[in-house]
Amino acid sequence: MPAELLCFEHECRARHSVTELIYTCPRCGGLLECIYSGLPTEPERLKRLWRERRLSNLPLDRSGVWRYRELIPFLDTFEHAISLQEGNTPLLDAPQAARYAGLQRLTFKHQGFNPTGSFKDNGMTCGVAQALRLGMRRVACVSTGNTSASMAAYAAVAGLQAIIFVPHGNISFGKLAQALEYGALTLQVEANFDRILALVRQLAERLGIYLLNSINPFRIEGQKTIVVELMDQRDWQPPDWIVVPGGNLGNTAAFGKALREMVATGLIRQSPRLAVIQAEGAAPFYQLWRSADRDRLPRVEEPETLATAIRIGDPVSWPKALYEVECSRGVVEAVSEQEIADAKAQIGRCGIGCEPASAATLAGVRKLVASGVIARDADVVAVLTGNLMKDPDYVYKYHTGQLEAPGGAKLVSTYANRPVVVPPDPDRIAEMLEERR
Ligand SMILES: *Cc1c(COP(=O)(O)O)cnc(C)c1O
Ligand SMILES: [Zn+2]
Repeated sequence: MPAELLCFEHECRARHSVTELIYTCPRCGGLLECIYSGLPTEPERLKRLWRERRLSNLPLDRSGVWRYRELIPFLDTFEHAISLQEGNTPLLDAPQAARYAGLQRLTFKHQGFNPTGSFKDNGMTCGVAQALRLGMRRVACVSTGNTSASMAAYAAVAGLQAIIFVPHGNISFGKLAQALEYGALTLQVEANFDRILALVRQLAERLGIYLLNSINPFRIEGQKTIVVELMDQRDWQPPDWIVVPGGNLGNTAAFGKALREMVATGLIRQSPRLAVIQAEGAAPFYQLWRSADRDRLPRVEEPETLATAIRIGDPVSWPKALYEVECSRGVVEAVSEQEIADAKAQIGRCGIGCEPASAATLAGVRKLVASGVIARDADVVAVLTGNLMKDPDYVYKYHTGQLEAPGGAKLVSTYANRPVVVPPDPDRIAEMLEERR
């Protein structure tokens, strides 16, 4: 099934070969999208096939991404489809979080169960496969976060050299530690994100390095399978809403594309609505959504939030994301640092847990239920994008009342669970435990 790259700009719509080494449209600089001449047409056959693959021991079938390869047919052969058995993430019912949000029920699709602990793995397995297919030997990205961790792991599996560019003095240790352990060459540069990106683009071209930043259209293809797997787990009964945090907005673009394609192939009857949640200090997409002029993104020069995975002031995928939110009759909301922190603790109390950016979903749902946008009896799935253990520093500070918002304002640890210091005295400990029954 031949695949092509289509320019996303209305005025351009140029088509390019999937084997061209490009990240944006060479004619106009627009975003690129994978398109296929005829997606599969027999939905019932596909559903059966995918269900059978769950019992298969073939690595490709065991991957929660490549299992759905009929919907991401950008490779000619699957010899380059390397896998860490990404995807296969659970749908978890969370009654306590539902009550917190004011809903009758709420389900989490937890992408933190991925091999490197975030949904970046769903996309990275495809991005690295594309790098191999193009014959590249080195891959690079600019990121201090989950993208680096994921790229480092998949490059290691594929036998590629991984090069990570890190803005100097702006390091998130949990995630950087993963990249170091997986063997990525890590370069700290004395410049901000945008400056480094320009530099890396130049270098990539000169040195033949494949870029795996979030603009990469093949990563988007892999991330589509998050919602395909979600529908499979629900026996193809779509929820009313899918809620996702918005940073660079690649996931929003991927989910919307997947939903459109699933409706087109008859896998689902109608599309759920997308709700994208941003942090107030890094909410250009929310500002765009609220403004009368949706043609220009009001970029945020100094984005600030403790939810570092969504601390993005100039999200690259915004034109696609805007299109997808509009197509799905969706909404965009923004939440405060306090709302994120408390929602995160509530997700923890469910025995589930997630990293700060993921908790923006629950905070956003709560707000959208309160304002009547989401009905109390709606069927809602919120996507938790990253694992609790990605940011232990945040967790410890919250529970010990030391968490500060970026401006320095103290956050209230509404659901603090402080560690208790006790003497090595059985009577005193017994007494204390008796009080806390
Ligand atoms: C990358 C990331 C996000 C943001 O996703 P976008 O596709 O950039 O909008 C949110 N949460 C986590 C944990 C991430 O790693
Ligand atoms: Zn173009």
